[in-house]
Amino acid sequence: MSDVTTLINPADETVLGTVPHSTVEQVDEAVARAAEAQRAWSALAPAERAAALRRFASAVEGAIEELAALEVANSGHPIGQARWEAGHVRDVLTYYAAAPERMIGKQIPVAGGIDVTFLEPIGVVGVIVPWNFPMTIASWAFAPALAAGNAVVLKPAEWTPLTALRLAELGREAGLPPGLFQVLPGRGDVVGERFVSHPGIGKIVFTGSTAVGKRVMAGCAENVKAVTLELGGKSANVVFADADLELAAATAPYAVFENAGQDCCARSRILVQRSALDRFLELLEPAVKGVRVGHPGDAATEMGPLVAKAHLDRVSAYVPDDAPVAFRGSAPDGPGFWFPPTVLLPTSRSHRTVTDEIFGPVVAVLPFEDEADAIALANAGDYGLSGSIWTRDLGRAFRVSRGIASGNLSVNSNSSVRYSTPFGGFKQSGLGRELGPDAAEAFTETKNVFLSIPDAPADLPPAQPAAVPPAQPTTPEPIGPEQGARP
Ligand code: NAD
Repeated sequence: MSDVTTLINPADETVLGTVPHSTVEQVDEAVARAAEAQRAWSALAPAERAAALRRFASAVEGAIEELAALEVANSGHPIGQARWEAGHVRDVLTYYAAAPERMIGKQIPVAGGIDVTFLEPIGVVGVIVPWNFPMTIASWAFAPALAAGNAVVLKPAEWTPLTALRLAELGREAGLPPGLFQVLPGRGDVVGERFVSHPGIGKIVFTGSTAVGKRVMAGCAENVKAVTLELGGKSANVVFADADLELAAATAPYAVFENAGQDCCARSRILVQRSALDRFLELLEPAVKGVRVGHPGDAATEMGPLVAKAHLDRVSAYVPDDAPVAFRGSAPDGPGFWFPPTVLLPTSRSHRTVTDEIFGPVVAVLPFEDEADAIALANAGDYGLSGSIWTRDLGRAFRVSRGIASGNLSVNSNSSVRYSTPFGGFKQSGLGRELGPDAAEAFTETKNVFLSIPDAPADLPPAQPAAVPPAQPTTPEPIGPEQGARP
């Protein structure tokens, strides 16, 4: 078994270099360093930790072009998207830089004394990242975990380690204590499994496939270790006949083909009310053909290649020669792992292209009859991560939003991710939430401290108003011409 990954540029198949795999011994050494760094980090004043995270955010800001170029070469992400991703990491760090000074516990009324809670850091947090959004997904865990006073060891996916490695360097250059944030490239069944089994790691954040997530959760159970899981999806884009069909059709391709469909939030099922299906498909076809698929370094490119040859083979297997293809976009010829945007019209709701997470630029369009049927179809299957609802009827928008078992829905929009709002899945799409105002708390243990106060009353009496002397009868002053005159 090779102890390095050879990195291939997915757009032209040139070799970028090799990255050595970390060993179990190296993980153990890294966890020991992290534990030591964490003790010093959590002892810093909250304002100092906040300032360090702001400096880290500034360092990322200064390296946006560099990080974006790495993601273009390593992952095939279009340059415009890659710049957004690097900027998003800066924003996530900036947002959670406000958290150290806001890790606010509670004072709880009790008899016989005072009761307060503290949000204590967990210690060392292990973060396991997939290859589809290597730097943004990493930041969703490391930024709030560091903000809450923890150290982080992070394993990037084998195919895409470069931006995570550079982010760890930027953290050190910005003055984070050595050992506080370490990136350990390597195999899932070596580095990832050691994170899960290591007694010095108190929490795992795993983002990846549902199959591996179940295994990680079982390993965490073995060690009674906290775990957040961000897993797969097969999200629905639900289009009612009363919707702005032009807008729904013009935006639907980007809701599934962005990042070449390698997006856990991809709306890879488009459900259209039957009475609007023909018109919607007429509008969808030019929109799909208009997606600009090309070299990721070109600023006009909207969709790049798939990440690796093995993944191209997996996606291609879902579209054999007799697949029910309605229409397709284009893709470059020649070297690179290219696959054109593809729209399928399966005749069965149980076809594997309707139920499986393909994780490529393939979308299935299916008709539904009415609101109840739309909700039932959207809820079919084990996933519940994301989704969109298109309608002009506000009541329906809320009824359907409440009816779909999914963590992130948008109405008349396909947006899923904002660093300031919670993100995560229902059902087998995950466990726990990332991002939003509460994310740093997910990296703490709540400690309750009761302070006994001898002879403290069970309850304090209400404040008494100051005693007022009884009013004395007064003799009314005579009303005269000088009334109102005051000395
Ligand atoms: P994957 O499950 O194959 O790998 C994810 C990570 O887990 C990698 O770093 C891998 O090395 C590691 N790993 C593999 N085996 C392991 C083991 N036994 N123990 C510990 N770690 C192990 O997933 P992938 O193919 O890299 O990513 C694609 C999947 O990720 C898709 O299913 C996608 O939906 C999901 N994903 C989910 C979200 C979300 O937020 N819900 C976001 C992005 C991707």
